[in-house]
Amino acid sequence: MWIVFLGPPGAGKGTQSKRLVEYLNFPQLSTGEMLRAAKVAGSPLGHLASQYMDGGRLVPDPVVMSIVGERLDQPDCIRGCLFDGFPRTLGQARALDELLDSRGFQLDLAIELRADEAELVRRMLKRATEEKRADDNPSTIAQRMEVYHRQTAPLIHYYRDRGVHVTVDAMRSPEVVFADIKGIVDRAAGAGGI
Ligand code: AMP
Repeated sequence: MWIVFLGPPGAGKGTQSKRLVEYLNFPQLSTGEMLRAAKVAGSPLGHLASQYMDGGRLVPDPVVMSIVGERLDQPDCIRGCLFDGFPRTLGQARALDELLDSRGFQLDLAIELRADEAELVRRMLKRATEEKRADDNPSTIAQRMEVYHRQTAPLIHYYRDRGVHVTVDAMRSPEVVFADIKGIVDRAAGAGGI
């Protein structure tokens, strides 16, 4: 099963996709985590990516697609994968469709976590103190929110047109949000999704 998690920064995509990974036993593909790992490793890709990440801007599509393509070629991705924080642009969404298509798969679900922006900013500032992420500070948070609206939110229409889009109210507790997601995934699986 191939599932995309959509939603603004701080909506809980990472938390919910980690839970779903445990439930479905599929790998999670978080481009944010992969890019942060490359940055920590000090690779040329990590160095390039950090110039964008630290300012709250998106890493260019070709860079992101190269790490995603490599990851999808690993044997554990044969049955499916959960994409967290990817795709973030229409270009990435189309490139993902092509990658899946060339492997004989198609996207089953695009789960949008919808939340109130003021609440999201509060969550991110909390995460900034807990995880000390370089890109969680008031100015980059505003920038990332703006980038989401301008570059990523159009994906909602893209996936709605494809008939794979579902919305989950992410303002509730992580447990309640996950119960909804589990129900959506179970229904999709029952309809032949897995
Ligand atoms: P995240 O952990 O998903 O919030 O990502 C943190 C940062 O990594 C983002 O603000 C971007 O700079 C970069 N990033 C992560 N995923 C992508 C992506 N799919 N496309 C472009 N940039 C990304």
